[in-house]
Amino acid sequence: MRFILIIALATTACAKPNPTASTANPHATKTAIHILKKNGSAIDAAIAAQMILNLVEPQSSGIGGGGFLLHWNAKKQKLHSYDGRETAPANIKPSLFLNPQKQPLAFPDAMIGGIAAGTPGLLAMLQQAHNKHGKLPWRDLFQPAIKLAEKGFPISPRLRQMLARDPILPKREPSRSLYYQQDKNGKTKPLPSGAILKNPKLAQTFRQIAEQGAAAFYQGAIAQNIAKTIRSAKHRPGTLSPQDLAQYKPKMRPNLCRPYRNFTVCAMPPPSSGGVTLLQILGILERFPMSAMKPQSLEAVHLISEASRLAYADRAHYLADPDFIAVPQKALLKPNYLKARAAMISPHRAMTQVPPGNPLAAKPPPRQKGDDLSLPSTTHISVLDGEGNAVSLTSSIEGPFGNHLMSGGFFLNNQLTDFAFAPQKNGRAVANAPAPKKRPLSSMTPTLIFDEEGALFAILGSPGGSRIIAYVAESVIALIDWNMTMQEAIDLPRFVAREGVARGGGLELEQGTALANLKDSLEKMGHQTAIRPLVSGLHGIRIHQSLADGGADRRREGLALTLSR
Ligand code: GLU
Repeated sequence: MRFILIIALATTACAKPNPTASTANPHATKTAIHILKKNGSAIDAAIAAQMILNLVEPQSSGIGGGGFLLHWNAKKQKLHSYDGRETAPANIKPSLFLNPQKQPLAFPDAMIGGIAAGTPGLLAMLQQAHNKHGKLPWRDLFQPAIKLAEKGFPISPRLRQMLARDPILPKREPSRSLYYQQDKNGKTKPLPSGAILKNPKLAQTFRQIAEQGAAAFYQGAIAQNIAKTIRSAKHRPGTLSPQDLAQYKPKMRPNLCRPYRNFTVCAMPPPSSGGVTLLQILGILERFPMSAMKPQSLEAVHLISEASRLAYADRAHYLADPDFIAVPQKALLKPNYLKARAAMISPHRAMTQVPPGNPLAAKPPPRQKGDDLSLPSTTHISVLDGEGNAVSLTSSIEGPFGNHLMSGGFFLNNQLTDFAFAPQKNGRAVANAPAPKKRPLSSMTPTLIFDEEGALFAILGSPGGSRIIAYVAESVIALIDWNMTMQEAIDLPRFVAREGVARGGGLELEQGTALANLKDSLEKMGHQTAIRPLVSGLHGIRIHQSLADGGADRRREGLALTLSR
């Protein structure tokens, strides 16, 4: 069930491209298209698709988590950047993820249970964006998901695989009764793919939110239940309270855009590291003739990796929630600073060490890079409506199935594990240390690209933990320097180089692709390489000569569809 429908209509140069949606699941994409057909706006379609994803791709995202959203208003030519990131509960201590010996907890130990849950921000953010850009009534956007949750949907192969791999869910209620069954020998097995799954509890939750708005989630019974679930967790109970939920506020962040070649790339500012790091990579690469290089050539992979290592090194040192830490965002993106960073790259040799740079005139703060452990789940939705408005939304409950606790038919997040576990290292503060009400540093990179006339050119983003930024960077280069369609850009083999994140700052090459053949040559240049699966989940739309071409990542189960008019 994976196909791309591109309807090539004869269009004039100024005609609006056809409404298009791309998401991680066919049910969600079709729902988005259904909303667009009813004259819904891009935000309407994105909200309806997100609720479907909560149901059919419960491992990745949902109202128990958070997200970041860029919205383009075509008529007003205005961009808005929304931050629906989870906040830490008011009662946490910086030592949240340390054991009694003051050592960081093992990741699974921290992730499962109550302590890693942040106050969910997705729904509050979506309501804020809907108030500003919505056309259809809020309640209508929940009806497709309510219907599907009650009628049931076939479990997808990927969901089944994730359930089969999970050691915790089959042992716990309510996940055990919802997603598993006993086989003849009394063994607990996930429901097979294709089996029809209903989720009446989620339907009930959605119904309340549809009628009463996001307030039904942040106050009242749903909020009480979330807090109770987290506080009474058997494993590592958390402190999240009804007050934390009642006080949650999504934020509008200042837009973050920077030119790349003849285009302007806009992405998410802190508390996501996505935008600054992506724009640093592009700003460094701008000094190299990327369009003259072949997409999978040794020189292109080497240069992109080196630019990436430089940007990730700065990410690890400087980036965190800007409401708590002074992030030198402007200085990190100054042309002269990026020029100096680019000058560190040799076309022939990999750098042996990549320290963070010093973008400020003053000495850099004496900091340590924090640990960075996020696991890949998350989802990305791209929508373009009939008026040319666009939504680029990345949302997440962090690890697969979040913290594994369910409330009201949905999973709760473990987003606080995106904080550095140790608040200090070698006596020095870590920027991304846990603190009450702070937002953990994210890598989510919802992106919009505009052409030289200021017209929207592309909508994209991906899951993948801190690899997200590298996946998006490679795709932006493919779209701009290599003139690829969205699907061609998404199909490219992946490679990821993350200094300060991966041990040794190595270069990962996607297993089973031609890139793996570059291993020896890259090692000769001094790169430490590893071949491994790199499961991006890019979903995007390119607008080229007034036609929209959508793309969905074949590594997952997505679908891109364009509506004919
Ligand atoms: N929690 C991660 C972040 O906010 C995303 C995890 C993922 O993509 O799987 O950056």
